[in-house]
This record gives sequence, structure tokens and C-alpha cells, in this order.
Amino acid sequence: MFESLSSKFSGIFEGMSKRGLLSEADVSEAMREVRLAMLDADVALPVVKDFISRVKEGAVGKEVLDTISPGQAVAKIVNDALVESLGGAGVVPLSFNAAPPVAILMVGLQGSGKTTSSGKIALRLTAREHKKVLLASLDTQRPAAQLQLAQLAEQAKVACLPIVSGQPPLEIAARAMDTARREGYDVVILDTAGRLSIDEALMAEVGAVKTLVNPHETLLVVDAMTGQDAVNTAQAFKAAVGLTGVVMTRMDGDAKGGAALSMRAITGTPIKLVGSGEKLTELEEFYPERVASRILGLGDIAGLVEKAAETIDEEESEKLALKMLKGKFDLEDYAAQLRQINKMGSITGIMDMLPGMGKLKEAMSGKDIDTSILDRHLVIISSMTKGERKQPDIIKASRKKRIAAGSGTSVQEVNRLLKQFNDMSAVMKRFNKLGIKGLMRQGLG
Ligand code: GDP
Repeated sequence: MFESLSSKFSGIFEGMSKRGLLSEADVSEAMREVRLAMLDADVALPVVKDFISRVKEGAVGKEVLDTISPGQAVAKIVNDALVESLGGAGVVPLSFNAAPPVAILMVGLQGSGKTTSSGKIALRLTAREHKKVLLASLDTQRPAAQLQLAQLAEQAKVACLPIVSGQPPLEIAARAMDTARREGYDVVILDTAGRLSIDEALMAEVGAVKTLVNPHETLLVVDAMTGQDAVNTAQAFKAAVGLTGVVMTRMDGDAKGGAALSMRAITGTPIKLVGSGEKLTELEEFYPERVASRILGLGDIAGLVEKAAETIDEEESEKLALKMLKGKFDLEDYAAQLRQINKMGSITGIMDMLPGMGKLKEAMSGKDIDTSILDRHLVIISSMTKGERKQPDIIKASRKKRIAAGSGTSVQEVNRLLKQFNDMSAVMKRFNKLGIKGLMRQGLG
């Protein structure tokens, strides 16, 4: 997401900073390019216009043009204007300011990721905020919808209202709230039926549910890939049922970013959460300032560190580090490390957060990096005996053949894994000999 916009913006500002002093004409020319880049990314015209005029206002002042690095000064102004278009600095959090059970109503078109997002939010509230959450599907339109939510709930280890076949949506909603009150739930997440397009009958149904449960949050789920349609959908839902926030899914895809950039400015509704993958853990808060720096090619280091801190099991990491220091790192430990990397989600998702990666990704013509190699290494290691994992040296030709056959790979692949492991071990041995200070002296720390 945002790659193309980000690489264009980086280009524009690189050009500006090379020029040293800037004239008003330089700024105007740059703004013309920014305008084209934004329109190309499917940002709504009024948002673009407003944005450009804000930047121009700030950028042509004497203070900016007279600074030593006007390119950077303009980039800062653009950054601030982007943050403002995105809704201002800081996250708009979900609100629970009411006596429990608090209802969250999930609405949106079919296929937008509504059910998945319901599961993700349930997991997040349970794991992070220690809320007792009940999920309930009111989707009686799509045959498997209720089962799908029940399965997600099971994965997330969150309670799900038992399915009573044939029960209409309003009755399910009432039963969910009753159950929550009786059983002491903090939050009830109600997943409503989707629709293919804005449909009055279903809209009326959502309206009735809303009146009945009086939700604290009405969250619209939209797919970032649908661009301006996402914004139009939000307008329609806002007018028909009212919204408190937007969950924007598929931010991990190659959407151009227009929907995210226009949503707040056009609808006045904040994006509260974003979906960044299919896994239940792939849900993040929407930080306008982080998104802005991503768009400007500055990366989202804060987001990356947060993600690493969340997914990496500290205890396990410490154990691994100790083993490394003692020179006792074996293939079992290597597998544990691979699993941690896997938990962080897709490598391309991580790349999106690194500075300057937009360009690199584009150079790779948007192809995903082959992460299957990590999975294959895990499969290969699982086909080894305990002894082999502890003492990889004993893996000679016949064992390699057996492991390759057992894991459905080839001897070459087993060799490659062993080589990678040996390379890692060699680095660690050096680490041991030199100690941390020695490594720092070598410039490796
Ligand atoms: P619903 O019809 O709105 O309930 O949509 P679903 O929750 O069933 O989601 C439709 C598809 O989109 C599923 O295959 C999900 O795994 C996928 N999906 C949902 N959110 C995301 C996301 O943030 N990123 C990606 N890549 N896929 C998603």
C-alpha cells in the first residue's frame, strides 16, 4: 500500500533537496507533481485541492525558502498537511465509556473483511485489554456466515453466541445482549449481514438492530483496494445508520492509498483500525503520523518496533540469546527462531514499514518475497530426529536422503539449510570469542 505514491513523493523531495535554495516556482512545480501523484493514487479531488493549498500556504513563506535546506522544510510541511488530511496526530481509540456490556456493531459490504475483522477485534480486546468478549453473527443471509464467525472465535479463543438456526437477526441481537448481561461480558461484537451493494432493506435491518442494542461503536469495514468506492460506501452508511469509525482492511495489498487518504476528510469518520493481513493478529491501530511518514518514504519504524515487541516472545528470545552466548545453539533453536519470524507476518508487510522500501518493492515489480523457504526449513527440521537437531554434525549423506524424503524436499535443500545454519553458528562462535565489545570494535555490534 502507498508504494507508488511513496516512491513518487520521495522522488519529488529528493529533487527538491538537491536543488538547495528554492524559488516559488520550484515549489509550484513540486506541488503540481504532488497533485498528479495524489490524483493518480485515487485521492478524492477536494482532498487533493485542500491539501495543496495548505502546503502552498506554508511553503512559499520567506522563512521556508530562505532556510538552508528548503527541500526538507517543504517535506515537513507536506508531512504535517498529510497528517491533517488523515485526521490529525494520534490514534482515535475504540470507546468503551459505558456500563458493560458495551456493544460494537460491525457493518459493511460483503467481502470487505467484516467477519474477519470482528474476530480480530475480539482477539485484540481479549488479549490486550483483558476484556471478556462475546461474538455473535447476525448474518442470516449468507449460509455459512455464522459458522465462519464461530470458527474464528474458536481460533481466537473468544466466546461465540451459540447458533440457533432460523432465528432472525433482531432476535439474535437481543439474545446476545441478554447472554452478555447474564454472564458478565464486557463487550459484545455483533457481525451483521453484508450486502453486495447499498441495499435499503438490509440498511433498515441494521438500523433496527442499532436501535435495539444502542451500540457504543458502529464500525464500517471497507476494503482499501476499492479506492473511492470505499469512501462512497462510508458516506452511504453514515447517512443511513450513522458511524463512529472505519476499519480499513487489506492495507497489506497494493491499494494505491486514496481511500485511506480521503476517508476522514470526506466523511468526517475516523479510521480507527486497519487490517494488514488474513491472520487474526493482523490488525493495527491507525496512526495518521505513521502513515504520513510511510507515504513520504520515511518508513514506520515505530510501528515495526511495536510489532516486533508484540510478536516476539521475550522469554524465548532471552533463552535463545543465552544459548547463542554459550555456543549451544542447535537446529531446534533455529526452528524456534524461524517460527518467531513467521509470527511477525509476511516479509513484505514488514518491508512496508522500513524506510525507502517502497522503491525497492516497486523495483521487484510488486512480487512478494519468497517466504515459503522459512516454512520449508521448518518442515525439514521437523523430519529430523532429536539427536540430529541437537548435533547437526552427524547428518551425513544417508541421513540427508532420509530427511529429504521425509520432508518431501531434496538433498540439495537439506544441504542449503545446513549451510545456512553453519554460517549462523560461525558468526556466533566469533561472537563468543570476541564478546560484545570485540564485535563493536569490528563494527558488527
Ligand atoms: P465479509 O464478507 O465482509 O465478512 O468478509 P470476510 O471476513 O469473510 O473476508 C473476506 C476475505 O478477505 C477473507 O478471505 C479474509 O481472509 C480476507 N481478509 C480480511 N481482511 C483482510 C486483510 O486485512 N488483508 C488481507 N490480505 N485479507 C483480508
